[in-house]
Amino acid sequence: MRKLPKPCDDTGAELVAIDVFNVCISKVKNANLKTRLQGVRGLVAAAAVNYDAAASSVKLHTIKRQGKVGEVSKDEMVSVYTYRMVSNKQPGRIVYDQIINAPKYQRCPLCDIGTVNTLDHHLPKTEYLKLTVTPNNLVPSCMWCQGAKKTGYPESAEEQTIHPYFDDFESEVWLYAEVIQGSPAAFRYLADPPAAWGSIVKKRLNYHLATFELPVLYSSNAGSELSGIRTRLGRLLSSGGRDAVRRHLQEEAESWETEFKNSWKAAMYRAAAASDWFCDGGFAA
Ligand SMILES: [Zn+2]
Repeated sequence: MRKLPKPCDDTGAELVAIDVFNVCISKVKNANLKTRLQGVRGLVAAAAVNYDAAASSVKLHTIKRQGKVGEVSKDEMVSVYTYRMVSNKQPGRIVYDQIINAPKYQRCPLCDIGTVNTLDHHLPKTEYLKLTVTPNNLVPSCMWCQGAKKTGYPESAEEQTIHPYFDDFESEVWLYAEVIQGSPAAFRYLADPPAAWGSIVKKRLNYHLATFELPVLYSSNAGSELSGIRTRLGRLLSSGGRDAVRRHLQEEAESWETEFKNSWKAAMYRAAAASDWFCDGGFAA
């Protein structure tokens, strides 16, 4: 849900898939395997070009899955990533580090809440073998998001989760929360983008929330946030009434929106400020 620049090297140049593949296989000692890996370089390069075009036009569901690539088996292609990019001291590790270290504060771009500690294959490596080390298919992720998504892949335009390198949904508010009147007060999250963005975008955003189980994550964090501010809100209600509570909540919402319009905190404070029930003391329930 947070946009990231496409993976770059230390000079700021975008990483090129075939260059990364060549680096990863540069120290393969088995001559037979090396020859076969070198034999699929053209397929890997073409797949990366096709991937960029499909991701840019919300057509990743049209990319075909593969059981093998040329004379290279599934296990061998997956090993190019797991052994030659992830493993320390392997030549592809420098690329892995460049990609995983890109997000500000190591914040997961998929949920905007967790800490990045792995790379997620946007199209899973076991299904899309030509893309196992394609940089634009490797997204920094937290363990929550990777665990929630598993090896899912899109079967329609609506089933394409937000791609941090190709999508930009940051210009308008689309993440909303609703106050659930109860004891304690709670927050329910949903995606409701501007109508001009179209029905497919709305479905994609809600699919993204569902895939990464973000409503659960956000509601849990909002509950914790509320428990931490309840005393302060109580004092504001006592000293200045409902308007003082609302003013404070609006200021919090504006402050969080300045950082990111669609943060769960901005959505929470917007919803709280808009609720008479909440501002009248519902927060204390
Ligand atoms: Zn995450």
